[in-house]
Amino acid sequence: MQSLRVGFIGLGIMGRSMARNIHRAGFPVTVWNRTERKMAEAREWGAETAASPRAVAEVSDVVITCVGDTPDVREVAEGPEGLLKGAREGLIWVDMSTIAPEATRELAARAAEQGVRMLDAPVSGGDIGARQGTLSIMVGGDAEVLETVRPVLEAMGKNIVHCGPHGAGQTVKACNQILCGLNLLGVVEALAFAKKAGVDLEKMIEVTTQGAGGSWALANLAPRIVKGDLAPGFSVRFQQKDLRIVLQEAEQMNLPLVGTAVVQQLLRSVQAYGGDDDGTHALIRVMERLARLDFTR
Ligand code: NAP
Repeated sequence: MQSLRVGFIGLGIMGRSMARNIHRAGFPVTVWNRTERKMAEAREWGAETAASPRAVAEVSDVVITCVGDTPDVREVAEGPEGLLKGAREGLIWVDMSTIAPEATRELAARAAEQGVRMLDAPVSGGDIGARQGTLSIMVGGDAEVLETVRPVLEAMGKNIVHCGPHGAGQTVKACNQILCGLNLLGVVEALAFAKKAGVDLEKMIEVTTQGAGGSWALANLAPRIVKGDLAPGFSVRFQQKDLRIVLQEAEQMNLPLVGTAVVQQLLRSVQAYGGDDDGTHALIRVMERLARLDFTR
């Protein structure tokens, strides 16, 4: 049994696998999730459950949050039953949600007032990476704190990089989302081209994945598109949240990001057709409408 007691808040698509992998690595894990049903599932694999984020913090040395957007992190941290209410000096809080870098810096300062050391540690690698424990983890905050919790992060990820001070993890994650969006646009256009030209889509994916045009999106999302499986993975709603963060930060820096803005607008069309909860690869629907193609119906 590992010595650090780990609390985990948010058992969504990502969190449920991440918490389970921490437990598998031998750490005692106490979880809380807003929707009770997901806590019942966690009890089955051996987690303790707590009544609130506050109660999780009371019994943990390290608390991990993996919820949705900035207001959600604020709620589970600063709300009346939030983790900071149950925190004592020395607690480490690792936020693995994707939120705005500026908000992360504010939360880290707020936590520090109570002697709580925070890291921003957003992830990449999707639901598959979460299940397999192969996430990339981008860490902002004190390098010494990262070393204390590294064994816990190693249960969830393979590529754990200290990116800089508070907010640097979120900034690197924003770069990752720019790459994901533009890679996916490339995948969708290549699939449309192949379909229109009448070549075998699976063979196109197989060979280009190994070439210079290969990407995570091509290897993992293109096969799902061809099978007509548009389930998330990573939802359009969340990608739009992330691109909003990117474009807001870019605006503050007076940085034009033309490609990212195009992807955001195309995904807005997916949303207009009711695709908020589809995976981001539902971007193929826009291409179907633009080019009168039919991939998945
Ligand atoms: P998800 O499946 O929608 O799960 C979200 C989790 O957060 C659920 O446990 C939800 O509780 C909880 N939650 C949301 N708002 C809350 C609030 N106000 N108070 C308390 N709990 C709240 O999302 P996910 O895909 O696991 O993503 C989690 C985070 O990881 C997000 O920031 C996302 O951007 C990031 N991320 C996701 C992926 C991916 O591929 N999915 C990849 C990289 C990063 P309920 O069960 O009650 O709804």
